Amino acid sequence: LFHIAIASGKGGTGKTTVAVNLAFLLGSTKKTALVDLDVEEPNAQLFLQGDITGEYRQYRQVPSLIEEACTSCGLCQDVCNFHAIIQLGDKPMIFPQLCHSCHACTTLCPQQALVMKSEPMGMITAFGRDGLQSLEGRLDVGQEQAVPLIHKTKKLADKSFSDKEFLLFDSPPGTSCPFVAAVDDADYVLLVTEPTPFGLNDLKLAVETVRGMGLRFSVVINRAGIGDERVQQWCEQESIDVIANIPDSREAAVFYSRGELICESDPRIRNEFLQMIDRLQDRVTEALS
Ligand code: SF4
Ligand code: SF4
Repeated sequence: LFHIAIASGKGGTGKTTVAVNLAFLLGSTKKTALVDLDVEEPNAQLFLQGDITGEYRQYRQVPSLIEEACTSCGLCQDVCNFHAIIQLGDKPMIFPQLCHSCHACTTLCPQQALVMKSEPMGMITAFGRDGLQSLEGRLDVGQEQAVPLIHKTKKLADKSFSDKEFLLFDSPPGTSCPFVAAVDDADYVLLVTEPTPFGLNDLKLAVETVRGMGLRFSVVINRAGIGDERVQQWCEQESIDVIANIPDSREAAVFYSRGELICESDPRIRNEFLQMIDRLQDRVTEALS
């Protein structure tokens, strides 16, 4: 099972577009599944429009206070590294949205006045379309901790798709904790960018992050032709492999706006995706040798 993370330094570069089209075309010849790890705003299904085949509610552990046992000693506030417990008045107050479920407070409270309780955090949904299976992690409204749900979604994906050759991760944008949680054990990363000054700036941050993590990666330039050559030139200077230049296309924009797959819109785009798949398989062979 080869894990490919599709990521980008910021949102709006076409990361999900690349992920779903790649999954769809790769899936027509290889056993492939797609996992939407952009849990704060998963939208792969807008394009895949698969049928729901399973739903799995996910929980996380947060502390709850037994008021009568608490002596207001203040220790729990001191041991919480995430400022999820604050004691302003008599008793500590818990802010579950900041809790990282580390168990420090419940373990160290001298009065056993804190106990961990399960709280719903999100949903993992399984979908299927034309033989392409996918999983989507989605945080509940008001939940802010993406990382635990990303880990649970990846774990379920490895279990559910152990018979596949390729697992594609549509990763959260940015370079913060959710991005790192999604890409950290990927065998290969595709960084999607646009040929604009903003695209270059965010690509540099993403490259620095994946290099720091020691990951193999290539760059996909989406909407090639809209901006300038600086992304391409910078990749050459840095000896970074540009694995695909997906052309900007009016037909693709129309398909995209209708929530359809752009690889079915324009033969140039389909061709570029097919070539990317060939090149990707070479990179996989290199990575495995
Ligand atoms: S550590 Fe325990 S006893 Fe002390 S303030 Fe926190 S909950 Fe209360
Ligand atoms: S479990 Fe950890 S993060 Fe959550 S409130 Fe307790 S100490 Fe803080």
